[in-house]
Amino acid sequence: MFDPLGWIPEQLDLLTSLERRRAIHVRTTEQGAEIHWKGRTLLNFSSNDYLNLAADPRLQKAAQEAIAREGWGSGASPLISGRGTSQEELETALAKFEDTEAALTFSSGFAANAGTIDAITDRGDVIFSDEKNHASIIDGTRLSKATVRVYPHRDVDYLENLLKQSTSFRRRLIVTDTLFSMDGTIAPLDELADLTEAHQAMLMVDEAHATGVFGEHGRGLCEQMGIEDRVPIRVGTFSKALGGHGGFVVGRRTLIDYLVNRSRPYIFSTAGPAANWAAMVAALRIVTSEPNRRLELMAKANWLRGELKQLGWSVGNGASQIIPVIVGTEQRATAFSAKLLEMGLMVPGIRPPTVPEGECLLRISLTCGHTQQHLDTLLAGFRQLQS
Ligand SMILES: *Cc1c(COP(=O)(O)O)cnc(C)c1O
Repeated sequence: MFDPLGWIPEQLDLLTSLERRRAIHVRTTEQGAEIHWKGRTLLNFSSNDYLNLAADPRLQKAAQEAIAREGWGSGASPLISGRGTSQEELETALAKFEDTEAALTFSSGFAANAGTIDAITDRGDVIFSDEKNHASIIDGTRLSKATVRVYPHRDVDYLENLLKQSTSFRRRLIVTDTLFSMDGTIAPLDELADLTEAHQAMLMVDEAHATGVFGEHGRGLCEQMGIEDRVPIRVGTFSKALGGHGGFVVGRRTLIDYLVNRSRPYIFSTAGPAANWAAMVAALRIVTSEPNRRLELMAKANWLRGELKQLGWSVGNGASQIIPVIVGTEQRATAFSAKLLEMGLMVPGIRPPTVPEGECLLRISLTCGHTQQHLDTLLAGFRQLQS
């Protein structure tokens, strides 16, 4: 008899034979520097909980109070009756935090990216996208009917040439991650801003890994580089340094009003629960009142990068809390990651298609919850790999 899903086991076997089959496991403790996973206690260098807020009691308390006030579910799209007090409070607090006219919250950073790109571009427009942009940006460019031009990673000369050939398009959009999640590199934001001004383009940036971590007030890399007023569309997420869930777009009031009317994931997806939005108000307050979290995080990252370099590891030339240890082949990445895991260290190996063939790496994500002892243990693990 015909099995409509009979083709799937074969595809899974193919992944298994390529050693690319992924499986999901359960973390049985709260997120943090030490977690219990697959039945073992591990030092965790794999989370994006950069400010160690995911399990912060203050976020829990804010969430509990919101549940008592507003209940759990939102029951509708934000555009209909789903937008409650906590979501409104968060959007107000976020606009203030980001120093923009307005802010809009989405159910995820993925939805914010995909839903914004699709809304602001259409047939006859052109999108320029860095080849290492996040999947949610790539999917946004695929949803859009605009022409898409992918430029080599951080290659502004290449991009400038593309822009010169783009005069026949109606609108031009340049879109980039600010801090690239896989290799920890930073986009040439000031040069991109120059290009958008010279070629009358829009600049949209995704601060997913930089919000809460960079900048005097913790707003991200645009703040750190002093170019916020040259970047009209800024996307971010609550799911990384802010320790919660959901995504956002900040900018001028007309942009936000336009997205409310045109962004499909905003219009056709149910608003997130009040508990999350309220917790994120608390998280923004902590980012503002406890700048030491990001300062200590950066100090630890710089120290660790230096130590790894001294041991002879290739750590690229980034300057962020994401430290790529470039190991080359897929076999090495897999073997090293497994050996570290045996030692109780969770450091994911990053392999194709996420990175190009031969550029595999171990990706260390630091959080301000990592102690000096944690870092020393990690270094001992890397020393062990060399013996
Ligand atoms: C994680 C991530 C997103 C998606 O955010 P979620 O809130 O997890 O959906 C978007 N962009 C980048 C660069 C990311 O790393």
